Amino acid sequence: MSEDSEVTPAAPLNGQTTGPHHHRSHSQHTTTPPSSSSHATQDASASFLRPSDLLRPKAPTASIPPKRSQPERQIDRDERAGLQACRDFLRARKCYDVLPLSFRLIELDVGLTVKESLQIMVQCGIVSAPLWDSSTSTYAGLLTVTDYLNVVRYYNLHADKLKDVDKLILSDLKDVEKVLNVRPPETVSASPEAILYDALRKQLVSRARRIPLVSYDSDTQRTMVTSVITQYRILKFISMNVKETDMLRKPLEMIKLGTYSDIVRCSMDSSVLDVVDIMVTKNISSVPVVTTEGVLLNVFEAVDVIEILKSGDYGNLTWTVGRALSARAPNHPGIYCCSIDDGLDSIFETIRKSRVHRVMIVDDSNYLKGILSLSDILHYLLVDGEEHGHVEGMKTFGA
Ligand code: AMP
Repeated sequence: MSEDSEVTPAAPLNGQTTGPHHHRSHSQHTTTPPSSSSHATQDASASFLRPSDLLRPKAPTASIPPKRSQPERQIDRDERAGLQACRDFLRARKCYDVLPLSFRLIELDVGLTVKESLQIMVQCGIVSAPLWDSSTSTYAGLLTVTDYLNVVRYYNLHADKLKDVDKLILSDLKDVEKVLNVRPPETVSASPEAILYDALRKQLVSRARRIPLVSYDSDTQRTMVTSVITQYRILKFISMNVKETDMLRKPLEMIKLGTYSDIVRCSMDSSVLDVVDIMVTKNISSVPVVTTEGVLLNVFEAVDVIEILKSGDYGNLTWTVGRALSARAPNHPGIYCCSIDDGLDSIFETIRKSRVHRVMIVDDSNYLKGILSLSDILHYLLVDGEEHGHVEGMKTFGA
């Protein structure tokens, strides 16, 4: 299932797709992760894609050590020029420009049950949808996978209420948030006419992963949702239109991009419930699955919960991560990996061709070193090196 419901799928590269059920062409380097003893574990281990292996040889400048005291090198100048080109582009575009020529918008009425909403999500292959309140004919916020994670936590704490689970309707989700004492996810909406750069800066502050485009109809004095744009959609838009992304060759290690410490990990034997709990408390959308030695096997994603719950059986949550990953749809795209020596140029090239939502940073033996999320990339593109660049609630990365 995709995390980006609005994007027309990019044509897959020949053999580019990764995952347990796909084979890549022999010219491409495939790393098969070590299999573990359990059947579920073997099925659930993903194969890996490294942007640098597949796309182009590493830039020869990649090994230059980052020393601020040295005179500026060509790679630094190019990086700066590449970032500037991305920012100039975003400042010259409106949110509306990100939308494809033709797209669909699925809105869900707040009177639907949570179970019905899950079935619609699965049937339509989407993982979030704007809510519509038909009693007031207004936009009522965004339903995202975080809401389902909250429902999971709620029934874990209040098992006595599970008998009424089928009656839970979408407008009840606010009460679930209150009981759990979680802050409702802040959805910062933008006008389709807003400057894309400004909308993205606002999104970084809120830490939301999507921007609903909401317009106001002065005739009816009501708000209307035009579409929802995702981080992937925005990065793909940049990758398709800003050729200077080729200049972003500085290795991730040099620009300190991604998360390298305190990475939340799990094993194939971890329970889905525990992983859901930590995803909510840490506000992260995925947890890498590793061996006891730290070798990456797969990634459990928040969206996996939709597949687990679609039958309406909350008992499935006692599954192990390994079992849950084995239940993924056969066309699951797999996981994407890169090395710390890769630059954003090759990551952008991957984004141009495939729906990537995060990239695991591994070494040559597939030991997990870090995580690069789309929010990390957007933060770097928008903020790095900018005056007053710090965005509250986000890490700032120094080049
Ligand atoms: P995401 O949830 O992918 O939007 O990522 C939000 C932030 O958390 C980014 O800075 C990621 O690098 C970081 N992050 C994502 N997953 C993890 C994880 N499993 N452990 C620690 N940090 C993470």
